[in-house]
Amino acid sequence: MKKKFTLTSKILLGLLFGFICGLILKSIPDSYIKDTVIIGGVFKVIGGGFTSAIKMMVVPLVFVSLVCGSSSMGDVKQLGRIGTKTIVFYLSTTALAIVIALFLGSVLKPGMGLDMSSVVTGEVSIGESKSIVDILVGIIPTNPIASFANGDMLQIIFFAMLTGVAMSIIGEKAEPVRKVFESANEICMKIVSIVMLAAPIGVFSLVAETFSTVGQDAILVLVKYLLVVLLGLFIHVTVVYSGLFKIFIKQKIMPFLKKFTKVAAITFSTSSSNASVPASMEILEELGVGKTTRSFTIPMGATINMDGTAIMQGVAALFIAQIYGIDLGMNQMITIVLTATLASIGTAGVPGVGIIMLSMVLTSVNLPLEGIGLIMGVERIIDMFRTTVNVMGDNICTLIVANSENDFDKEKYYSGEKEEVVA
Ligand code: ASP
Repeated sequence: MKKKFTLTSKILLGLLFGFICGLILKSIPDSYIKDTVIIGGVFKVIGGGFTSAIKMMVVPLVFVSLVCGSSSMGDVKQLGRIGTKTIVFYLSTTALAIVIALFLGSVLKPGMGLDMSSVVTGEVSIGESKSIVDILVGIIPTNPIASFANGDMLQIIFFAMLTGVAMSIIGEKAEPVRKVFESANEICMKIVSIVMLAAPIGVFSLVAETFSTVGQDAILVLVKYLLVVLLGLFIHVTVVYSGLFKIFIKQKIMPFLKKFTKVAAITFSTSSSNASVPASMEILEELGVGKTTRSFTIPMGATINMDGTAIMQGVAALFIAQIYGIDLGMNQMITIVLTATLASIGTAGVPGVGIIMLSMVLTSVNLPLEGIGLIMGVERIIDMFRTTVNVMGDNICTLIVANSENDFDKEKYYSGEKEEVVA
């Protein structure tokens, strides 16, 4: 945990120095050294290398982590009911989260006031938009190998989930392959954390390059982007989560919130859904949730439920479209809802993966990936907040599913409260 904090502060320093360095470079006159050697050379190599290393991990990470997630369901028949409820809850709240994000992004326009359209080299086109029918049919790959080679994420996700479900149905016979996937998953996670070690210098280069080209205008929009994401997270918690809690559980939310602070502290400091699993299990037990429900919903949620991440991705997609002066139509918005929902399934519960998956969302509507460089500046801060929302969603879902399955002891739920009142 201490290590993560060190990396976080290094990234923040990289961001700060990147800002300063970029603004200084902006203020000095153009020269060969400044433009070709520093900005076009050093910054491009380091920043570009870092971005490529992030993108490199998308296909393997999504495939492997999704196969692991969907194959760990155990006995599919027995878990069928809880599984269906959980998945419906996770997917629908995630889709709702993106709708909130797209609404806020369209109304508040965080990217207004910065024009990056001149910065992009090469074509920035929105491409031909596909119809919804094409998108839906296109999820099923005719050739999975081609999907991997082309990096077609929707098809990869479809194939991965089918593989995982098949593995969990055949059970024992799939054991050797499951072990291989679990080990491959560990390796992928490790590569991500190695790549993240380069984040301070990568962020420095990306931010310095950006600010040397666009100058101060960018600061204001970056703060606006941060605030819009935080507002989206806040609305999701206060409206969606507390609304669902009221409707389905019909109990006071306070006992849960009190216990959840303990989890939130761990989540916030580690920025990892996975790292929060033990703490969630513990408080849910204290709150009267049975083992049957929580042992399935919490690990599953840490793997596939990322509402906070989805909010970031929705706002980020609109933000990037706005700074590059690209208008997104209704079809593209729907594509974003679909891809970001599926991306959240493929997002591993470790720090920084949401931003990797953002490239998939951007690619699906032909938005320039270079935009990620700018928002990397506030990525780490947002990761802390969005992961806390991700984990809160897992906990709320668990309570709702447990309640509907009669796996929830209400007396126990309030017992912590009484103890505190008495004390
Ligand atoms: N850090 C997030 C989590 O663990 C994933 C992400 O959005 O990067 O839930």
